[in-house]
Amino acid sequence: MNVIKTLEANKGKTLFSFEILPPLKGKNIKYIYDAIDPLMEFNPSFINVTYHREEYVYKKREKGFLEKISIRKRPGTVGICAAIQNKYGVITVPHLTCGGFSMEETENALIDLNFLGINNILALRGDPVKTELSFEPESDGHEHAEDLVRQAAQMNQGNFLDEEIKNPEPTTFCIGVAGYPEKHYEAMNPNQDIQFLKQKIDAGAHYVVTQMFFDNKKYFDFVDNCRAAGITVPIIPGIKPITTLKHIAFIPKTFHVDLPDEFANALLVCKTNQEVAKVGVDWMIKQSKELKAAKVPCIHYYTMGKSTHVTEIVKAVF
Ligand code: FAD
Repeated sequence: MNVIKTLEANKGKTLFSFEILPPLKGKNIKYIYDAIDPLMEFNPSFINVTYHREEYVYKKREKGFLEKISIRKRPGTVGICAAIQNKYGVITVPHLTCGGFSMEETENALIDLNFLGINNILALRGDPVKTELSFEPESDGHEHAEDLVRQAAQMNQGNFLDEEIKNPEPTTFCIGVAGYPEKHYEAMNPNQDIQFLKQKIDAGAHYVVTQMFFDNKKYFDFVDNCRAAGITVPIIPGIKPITTLKHIAFIPKTFHVDLPDEFANALLVCKTNQEVAKVGVDWMIKQSKELKAAKVPCIHYYTMGKSTHVTEIVKAVF
């Protein structure tokens, strides 16, 4: 089974899925199982696992020299996907980025996934490395998610980079891509962003998962605009509860999304994380119920590794 077949087999129903991120290096797989276990009783249709590329840090060395070191704080995306699929028998969707990969490394990563029986990916460009102002592809890597989609779609046709391969066996990847109800922050305007989204679909993507949003109208308008632009694939809303005082500033800044007035005003009077979590969870339950009533294909929750609040929401909605 894959994501698109699951959506097609359940047309008319609203499914439930969620995203986790690999733990910080040093933690073991139990950390992941502990986060997932409370959500399994709600029968998730698939679980996404994010990908985190290397970051650069400067370490002080003798005589005042600084050494630039590359570190990956959250490796393990593919291993976690394989472990979850084995333990729970649920579809996993590893995120795969253009950033940090040459085309050959991408091909080899896709071959690994294929051998592991993981035939879903979310194809992304990735954000710029924290120390760089704009996204820089590898010298032999992809510049846009569209190119990564095309490479995976080519492998589904049996076309690998090395044209000399004899009788290549096609892969069967189901490919998701990201969409932005409030526009990707680099896009010139919303219409242009949707045109590029259409190019990702035309290159072979099967469905879209959205960036988080807190105003359902933005999602409904986005879907209407995508349909008007000729995008016909399922568009899965991705949402996330605000549950700490830190989130209030961090989420709009990091994900380039607005909080509607009513929600912002309710959050502004909160003094503790508990108060924020109450307001954030209530808001998300309201949002989820409205999305479900509108018969969206699936509601995808961003857990950021903590499932307590998402469990509360899912219990109230599904
Ligand atoms: P693209 O589709 O390549 O778009 C990037 C920008 O370029 C947009 O402004 C778009 O309008 C424009 N554009 C697109 N195609 C073209 C083209 N052909 N020519 C010119 N311009 C074009 N990041 C991670 O590092 N790891 C993750 O696990 C991860 N998971 C995510 C999950 C979801 C659901 C979402 C919404 C985002 C996720 N991200 C993740 C963040 C994502 O990598 C960033 O938002 C990134 O800046 C853009 O990725 P994209 O795939 O949308 O890029």
